[in-house]
Amino acid sequence: MTRILAKATPRPGLVGLARTSSPALRRWQHVRVDSTLEVGSTHTNSAVSSSSSSSSTPPLAALPNGVLLRSLLIAAISSKPYLLGPSLRILSKLTQPGHGLLLDVDRNVLLHRLLKLTFYKQFCAGETGSETQQTLRHMKDLGFRGTILTYAKETVFDHKTNKSHGLGITTDLAQEKTQHCPTIEAWRKGTLETIDLLGDGDYLAVKLSGAGPAVNDAFAAGELPPAQMLAALEEIGSKCRDRRVRILVDGESQHFQQGILRVTMDLMRRYNREGSALVYNTYQAYLKSTPATLARHLEAAQREGFTLGLKLVRGAYIASDQRSLIHDTKADTDAAFDAIAQGALRQEIGAFGASSPAGKPFPSVNLFLASHNQASVVAAHQLHRQRVQDGLPTVPVGFAQLHGMSDAVSFGLLKLKGSDGTPEVYKCSTWGKMGECLAYLLRRAIENRDAVGRTGEEFLALKKEAWRRLGWRN
Ligand SMILES: Cc1cc2nc3c(=O)[nH]c(=O)nc-3n(C[C@H](O)[C@H](O)[C@H](O)COP(=O)(O)OP(=O)(O)OC[C@H]3O[C@@H](n4cnc5c(N)ncnc54)[C@H](O)[C@@H]3O)c2cc1C
Repeated sequence: MTRILAKATPRPGLVGLARTSSPALRRWQHVRVDSTLEVGSTHTNSAVSSSSSSSSTPPLAALPNGVLLRSLLIAAISSKPYLLGPSLRILSKLTQPGHGLLLDVDRNVLLHRLLKLTFYKQFCAGETGSETQQTLRHMKDLGFRGTILTYAKETVFDHKTNKSHGLGITTDLAQEKTQHCPTIEAWRKGTLETIDLLGDGDYLAVKLSGAGPAVNDAFAAGELPPAQMLAALEEIGSKCRDRRVRILVDGESQHFQQGILRVTMDLMRRYNREGSALVYNTYQAYLKSTPATLARHLEAAQREGFTLGLKLVRGAYIASDQRSLIHDTKADTDAAFDAIAQGALRQEIGAFGASSPAGKPFPSVNLFLASHNQASVVAAHQLHRQRVQDGLPTVPVGFAQLHGMSDAVSFGLLKLKGSDGTPEVYKCSTWGKMGECLAYLLRRAIENRDAVGRTGEEFLALKKEAWRRLGWRN
């Protein structure tokens, strides 16, 4: 396995969790013991979903009835290949342009309503500003610290076909290379509108590839994007700073990623100067190169005196990116993710923070863990809390799951909330017209298909919660 910079602690499992003094954490622990699952070694989410302790309500008890029913329907479809297959084919057909009225989701009222009440509401925040803000308020009422909101446009580069696929983008390629590129302009306007919807505690998530071919060609060549894009980023950065909205720059296809990292580091140099991060880079733990990339960025943050915004994910492009760049096994990716998360929380990653003679000072880092993996997020939260309690140095950390997915993990984390307000948990959502969000919905459906184990567990947990509300035990 590729060299990992920091040493991960052995997975805590049930034994490791026993050290905590938090009553909430102990409650969840109790649930985990009841579930008889070795969470630490399996990296599955079953323990949360199997909550059956009579001493505490299960995490999914927080879901309103309507949301529970919708989640049950979507999870039932997602966990049954004979239902998901046709649904994926229909969604895929609808995302293709050039339909007549019958298959146009923005013009066919019946189709629009059907999709809106099911897939759209499950995964997206709203078609208008007011609808989106209502969803954001609802998230806060449920106990989330805030919402991460994104604008539904992106480009995926398929390594196998050597082609880029625009998602949610309609482009006139002839106009792309003109001085004033309409796609960059549309992306700029959409992103600024998104910032207007956000309030205290919310994050803006940006997919830079959504700005279209002129930007992506530059990224693919490892160059800076056109001046129009740099000016748009400057405007977005200043607006976010003024409104105290933090920015998570998404990690994307490897084909574009070097350019994205370069631009984001420049934004961090500019905006992360006041002891905390306004801008975060995304580090994909499944990449063999991530430890080296992170070491370079820690070095830059240390040398130049800015805060490194470290959003950590496992990585979403395994189906389209060059496979040899990615760890050989899921276990290697899990170990890489935990090593970076726990290393940051201990303020020791490779030479940074090490007490050896070759050790370097650990720079200012803000950590953000975007994951549905219960074992990883619980271990990270537990380590953070323990270090705070023991008066040991650590870094601020936030947690996020996608809107409509892994609610048992999100609400499970919320149940651990202590008097200091941690863990800070967020849901990540997308907004836009139905037609604009279809490609995003398709991606969520594909992700559910590929995470067979997790969707099956989620379905069982939701079913169990529904039976519990009906007064039945199963
Ligand atoms: C809020 C949020 C924001 C996100 N933002 C981004 C982003 O900006 N960029 C991005 O790329 N992804 C992003 N993701 C998706 C993320 O990268 C994962 O694809 C997804 O969350 C599933 O991983 P997991 O940590 O939830 O856990 P799990 O379900 O335990 O892990 C699944 C992941 O493990 C890895 N994996 C699976 N099989 C193998 C294998 N055989 N070999 C090696 N690795 C394997 C893959 O990365 C896969 O996605 C985001 C996820 C969330 C929740």
